[in-house]
This record gives sequence, C-alpha cells and structure tokens, in this order.
Amino acid sequence: MVSTHMSDLVPISALQHFVYCPRQCALIHVAQVWNENLHTQKGRREHARVDEPASEQRDGIRIERALPVWSERLDIIGKCDVVEFHPDGTVYPVEYKHGPRRKGLHDDVQLCAQALCLEEMLEVTIAEGAIFHVSSRRRRVVKLDDALRKETQGVIAAVRAMLDSGQIPMAEHGKQCECCSLRNACLPDAGQVKDIGLFEPLEDNACISF
Ligand code: SF4
Repeated sequence: MVSTHMSDLVPISALQHFVYCPRQCALIHVAQVWNENLHTQKGRREHARVDEPASEQRDGIRIERALPVWSERLDIIGKCDVVEFHPDGTVYPVEYKHGPRRKGLHDDVQLCAQALCLEEMLEVTIAEGAIFHVSSRRRRVVKLDDALRKETQGVIAAVRAMLDSGQIPMAEHGKQCECCSLRNACLPDAGQVKDIGLFEPLEDNACISF
C-alpha cells in the first residue's frame, strides 16, 4: 500500500515524458491532459502483458512483472515492467516499449530511475538493464553508468521543480512533435501558446486522465 506521502513522489513515467518534451510532461502531469493517438493505443496494447503483476520461474530466473518500486530518498515512484532475478544474484530490469528497436534517452532515463529504486530497496548494485522493443522483439542493453545516473538525477530534480511550480513550458516545435499524442492540445505550430486555459475545453472523449 502506497502512503499519502509516497503518492506525492515524482512518477517515474514523468521523467520519460520530460526528456521527450518538458511541455508534454507538464501537460500530462500538471494539467492532467492526455490524448490517445495510434502510438499510445498501440503501446497500451503491446504493454498489456506486463501491466498485470505476475511471477514466474524460467531457466532458473525468477521473473516479476509490474513490480512497484520507489525511493523516498530520490523522490520517485513507479513500476517496473519486468525484473529478472538471476541465480547469481543479478537483478535485471527490463522496460517494454512498442515499436522497433531504437535508442532514446527518455527510455534510458526511465530504466535508470527504476534501477536506482531497486538498488535502494534491495541493497544491490545494478550494472545494466534492457529496453525490450516489442515490434522487433529485440532487447537493447542499457549500461547504467555514472553519466546516465547523473542525467537521471538531474531530470528528477527538474521534474520536481516543474511539478512544484505548476508552470507549463512553451511549445518548442521539433521532430518529437510528429508522434506526440498531445499535438492537437499543444498546437506546436501555432506559435507561442502561453495560457494553459487554452487546453481546458478539450472534449471528454478526446482525452483521458490518469
Ligand atoms: S506537440 Fe511537440 S511541443 Fe507540444 S507537447 Fe508534443 S512534443 Fe511537446
């Protein structure tokens, strides 16, 4: 059971959103705006298998799915899609992503944050984890080196500051906008959109909150 205090921790999913686009992160986690598009629908379908808590044993490896993780010290809380517990004591987090194999810092930061929680909760050191790309069914190994750990802690601080301020950053149009589910709400091509009130008239059936 998550305490009231823990429910105030920064969601690890917000870190991924922030690295992808700070404005997207604020729209979702400050303004509670969420639009579905083909990418999010596909992602949700492909994610279904790891969204339900489950435990299994395979080739001597215990596999936990949808494992809750948190760190009050680091101010974060979330859920690991998969954590493998190997016979030699290795703890190995695996994050599922829809689409083909691709490198993305936003995915790496999310995985690193999960690993940092696991390290603290289980008193272990985790050298690497992996992103499993569902469409191509390939793993991309992510080394949890000092640079990624530092980057992740910087993102945590930035997201905490943004959530506390309640501010929505201005739109900065870029390549990331092409598959952003919030494109219609954000209007990145419309110039400097400043007022979050612009997003409030979204129809109920056009967005979901979480
Ligand atoms: S449309 Fe572009 S600027 Fe707007 S939230 Fe999405 S990624 Fe960010």
